Amino acid sequence: MFEVSVEETFAAGHFLRQYRGKCENPHGHNYKIRVTVRGPELDEAGLLVDFVELKRVLNQVVERLDHRFLNDVAPFDVVNPSAENMAKYFFDEIRRGLTPARGAELDEVKIWETDTSCATYRSPRQSAGSGPGGSAHEITEG
Ligand SMILES: [Zn+2]
Repeated sequence: MFEVSVEETFAAGHFLRQYRGKCENPHGHNYKIRVTVRGPELDEAGLLVDFVELKRVLNQVVERLDHRFLNDVAPFDVVNPSAENMAKYFFDEIRRGLTPARGAELDEVKIWETDTSCATYRSPRQSAGSGPGGSAHEITEG
């Protein structure tokens, strides 16, 4: 399997609803986000996904949130802007905009609120190893 990742940073403010603690008050973060694509095959150029293309798609989503107050920006005007929900939002938006090499897919999005705290949303792989048939052909020598 090949994996390709790109990272980006952005700054945004938020507060958490239905939460008791200091994060219920408005505050800001310098977020870091890492997007990873995973797949078994490369294209003719030897790429899993073009870094430039992956960054372009990531930046389209980052630009919606950079230097904004997240609680004012859809969907976080309704969905709580926790790191977990943000990771899933980035995952869904980036997957929609991306066309990687055959068989490749967006694997995970990891977002750091601080240097020491991060949340990850990962592609659910229903047939990881023990699927109900159809996966035997994936097991090859080596
Ligand atoms: Zn926060």
